[in-house]
Amino acid sequence: MIRINNVLLSEGKGGVYGERMMDGYRVWNPYRSKFAALVMKRKDIDLPPEFIVLYLGAANGTTVSHVADYVDTVYAVEFAPRPMQDLMAVSERRKNIVPIMGDAGRPSEYAMITEPADMLYQDVAQPDQTGIAIKNLPLLKDGGILILMLKTRSVDVTRSAKEVFEASILELEAGGLVVEDTLWLEPYHHDHACIICRKGE
Ligand code: SAM
Repeated sequence: MIRINNVLLSEGKGGVYGERMMDGYRVWNPYRSKFAALVMKRKDIDLPPEFIVLYLGAANGTTVSHVADYVDTVYAVEFAPRPMQDLMAVSERRKNIVPIMGDAGRPSEYAMITEPADMLYQDVAQPDQTGIAIKNLPLLKDGGILILMLKTRSVDVTRSAKEVFEASILELEAGGLVVEDTLWLEPYHHDHACIICRKGE
């Protein structure tokens, strides 16, 4: 990944969803992708080539396709039929993406398709975001990393973003995770926190 001022570039061979290209690199927009926002804010986020990623909330596969530029395989879970169609088309162009039509709240439905993940990335904007992450922990390797993009307004609009965030941290810790880092995705995404956790060895 290459950062030039406010532009992030990824190194895949050829465009995937009509994104702009710069000198042969794919422009990865942090205002459209929370992962790109994380990379813009945290310079040490790594996507090693041997990584297996389980991606929950794949939508139409734009961010998935950038992650797939770097890692071995992305298992991409999405439950809505319309974005799933786009995700299927993206997976035609990136052979290391495995599209899975499934409910991230029911990991037993896709556990047999996936392999143990080095990274669990979740971006589902649902009320029970921490519960979904915890249910998927059996699919994450011991010592693996969880990156949870927490949309606080989807959890509870009546509580402040800070309250939802603090309660979510407690739930993740109670679920057996070690919280390693947290940040807010401002100015790219409002009321979105990124919580980075490690699953115990
Ligand atoms: N990660 C995407 C990206 O960066 O391009 C954007 C994800 S969008 C904010 C959230 C997606 O999660 C939607 O496409 C929605 O259909 C999907 N989603 C929500 N709940 C889900 C669930 N329980 N299982 C699978 N997908 C879910």
